[in-house]
Amino acid sequence: MSRSLIDIRVRQREYLLAISRALSAELELSDVLRVILNASVEFVSGRAGIIVLSDPEEGLFRVAAALGVPSELFYSHANLVNGFPYSLGREKDATASIDEAMSHLTQHLKNDLGVSQTLILPLHQGDLVVGMIYVFQEEQFTFGEDAGKLLQAFADQAAIAVKNARLYEQVNSEKQRLDAILENSADGVMILDPQLNIQSFNRALSNMIGRKASEAIGKPHDEIIQWLTLRTEQGLKDASENGWPMPGSANLYVEGDIKKPDGDIVSLGITYSPLLNTRHRLLNIITNVRDLTQHRREEELQKTFISVVSHELKTPVSIIKGYAGTLKRPDAKWTPEARHEYLSVIEDEADSLTDLIDNLLEASKLQSGTFSLNLKDHISLVSLARRTAKKFETQSDIHEFSFNFPDNFPEINADERRITQVLNNLVSNAIKYSPKGGPVEISGTIEDDERFVTISVTDHGIGIPDHQRHRIFQKFSRLDNDLSRKTEGTGLGLFLTKAIVEAHDGRIWFNSNTDPEKGLTGTSFTFSLPNIYN
Ligand code: ATP
Ligand code: MG
Repeated sequence: MSRSLIDIRVRQREYLLAISRALSAELELSDVLRVILNASVEFVSGRAGIIVLSDPEEGLFRVAAALGVPSELFYSHANLVNGFPYSLGREKDATASIDEAMSHLTQHLKNDLGVSQTLILPLHQGDLVVGMIYVFQEEQFTFGEDAGKLLQAFADQAAIAVKNARLYEQVNSEKQRLDAILENSADGVMILDPQLNIQSFNRALSNMIGRKASEAIGKPHDEIIQWLTLRTEQGLKDASENGWPMPGSANLYVEGDIKKPDGDIVSLGITYSPLLNTRHRLLNIITNVRDLTQHRREEELQKTFISVVSHELKTPVSIIKGYAGTLKRPDAKWTPEARHEYLSVIEDEADSLTDLIDNLLEASKLQSGTFSLNLKDHISLVSLARRTAKKFETQSDIHEFSFNFPDNFPEINADERRITQVLNNLVSNAIKYSPKGGPVEISGTIEDDERFVTISVTDHGIGIPDHQRHRIFQKFSRLDNDLSRKTEGTGLGLFLTKAIVEAHDGRIWFNSNTDPEKGLTGTSFTFSLPNIYN
């Protein structure tokens, strides 16, 4: 074997080694292509080279690596910068126009680099041409069959590198897509490893239980999901200790309450689904978490609703029945005064039944979104207030009513029936919650350049303690005191009052004092309503 042939062989080996090293080092595709282009150019003593690759997403062949081609030459060949279009599956059709552009380039390179011939090595994947290596040579260069095969081997390696890179990209973008789906899912999602450690933890779950993903990932499941109470028979740990999941086993559903770091309690429903491989080994547990807090609250409300309503309906009905029965007794003779008194009681109880039913209807309208106002012009709040007070005055002789309205108090645009309901509730509360009697004042003010008016109802009753303030306007909420137990009420009054005032674009608030050492106890509810005539 001649010395130069040995040299060539040694070089061939070196190039092949460099290329396989580049391939196995999992370098970026562009780095692998650069190594392959270097080897190809050097091996045939070329001056410059270009690798063009197809980009199936854009339907273009693009320059993927270049060696020794002056950059200004690229800019004078628009195709090299913009790419060569092709339609999918018909890549071969584009090769002619690429070859033509390259021979054009060769002409230019001739002046700069003395290049005179171009070697073209196609990159094949099966029948598909995925790219070309172009090597620009200085002079007529001939090589034997061996060298030709070797060059094709370089091109084949390049084709493999392209294929690997594309597969990797595909897997990667699929993974990114799945990660994004998990992260943005509206349900809480977490993935556990077979040892029940958390591997992934999405944003919805993080919001639900008030823990950051970075706090949860890597931690044991039981450290992050610590049940305060459990409504199902067993949690994940107990189930796993009892052999869950068995091959073909169903999902595990666990429901209960946990405490968030800020002290709030959330009700969760968690479904654990085992992910098994073909040999039934557990790979992961996919965990879906739902926030059931609202659902639980509604269930509670439903229960309260039924108990409150049945109690509140029962009381007037049994009073009415009692008095009617008494009046009907054939053996008794009633004086006209007694008869009148009993009939008045029946009338009052029938009225309170009507009020209760009205309140329930309004509340259900609010819930179903069919609540709407029947606005009328020139409603006089002063006369509404006087009428309401008159009605309640007859029911109590220990409360004294007083009025305090400026002379120029304006008439407004409002739903008369509903504003009467607001006043009824505020005045009835003032009476109910000042059992020892005392003054009840209804007053009005004109605010903000006559843009708003306010009405206040003030009593000197038991007051509302600070720690119960937040419950006042909630549906079915009655404060926990002796009086609430003794007086009638559903706890709907202020909930509806607030809804009605806000539907008029007004606001409602209150001041209250429960401490006799800080002056007179009592409560003052105030609501504002806009005066649209101003
Ligand atoms: P309803 O109005 O449905 O007949 P209610 O009067 O109990 O029942 P709300 O008017 O909504 O319900 O009032 C809620 C709770 O707020 C009352 O049960 C009471 O505990 C408290 N509350 C309301 N007004 C006053 C007040 N003026 N003084 C003290 N506590 C009050
Ligand atoms: Mg009330």
